[in-house]
Amino acid sequence: MIYLQGIQKSFKKQPVLKGINLKIEKGEVLTILGPSGSGKTTLLRCLNFLEKPDAGMVQIGNIIVDSENATKKEMLAIRKQSAMVFQHYNLFAHKSVVENVMEGLIVAKKVKKKDARQQSERVLEKVGLSDKLNHFPSQLSGGQQQRVGIARALALNPEVILFDEPTSALDPELVGDVLAVIKSIAQEGITMVVVTHEMSFAREVSNRVLFMDEGVIVEEGTPLEIFHAAKEERTRRFLQRIS
Ligand code: ADP
Repeated sequence: MIYLQGIQKSFKKQPVLKGINLKIEKGEVLTILGPSGSGKTTLLRCLNFLEKPDAGMVQIGNIIVDSENATKKEMLAIRKQSAMVFQHYNLFAHKSVVENVMEGLIVAKKVKKKDARQQSERVLEKVGLSDKLNHFPSQLSGGQQQRVGIARALALNPEVILFDEPTSALDPELVGDVLAVIKSIAQEGITMVVVTHEMSFAREVSNRVLFMDEGVIVEEGTPLEIFHAAKEERTRRFLQRIS
């Protein structure tokens, strides 16, 4: 259901993605691991055209875009297929929790305000924030703010949710709560691509783990294959270093 073919991206002539081919099935939870600077975030951003790849093809659901001659309209269409959860939450500071979730529904999906509020309250319940609907982001912990970010993505009911290091800005004691929420969503069968340094998440929640280094996919497999029987020396060295 998601298909990337030959994705290339350079910044200032420095190649960051060197021809990525990747297929993600519906309902799959894919974790992307790799050293800092290996191109993980750029790959995530190319998937929804927050960055326009220099070359290659992106397909999400039945929308197919060839990056070399992608129109604005096509890029917007592919962007609407996904929702992103950012490392630094990116919430509207002057909007309440429920308004933050409603915003995307009203603006991107043209949902009526009353329905948007109802749908938002429903997803906020899923992430355990029913008692914080009218709070402002500054009144919440980092973990709670990130749960608003997750609710906002969920509300859009996208084909895929992209998580860009969703717990790396959090104090260690808040990481568990956020991972538990992501895990519960994963169990609902929503397709997810997660860039993370949380090995426990990669091991316990994802169906497939992909290891990137220097702009290429070095190796991919089930968590068992990657954590216990990695074929590539580069993968084994990375895993040894961080565990
Ligand atoms: P990772 O997520 O694996 O840490 P990134 O995809 O963030 O890696 O970055 C890969 C490389 O691309 C890094 O060297 C980074 O400095 C560079 N890079 C990423 N985004 C930009 C940008 N917008 N402009 C210039 N260089 C960038």
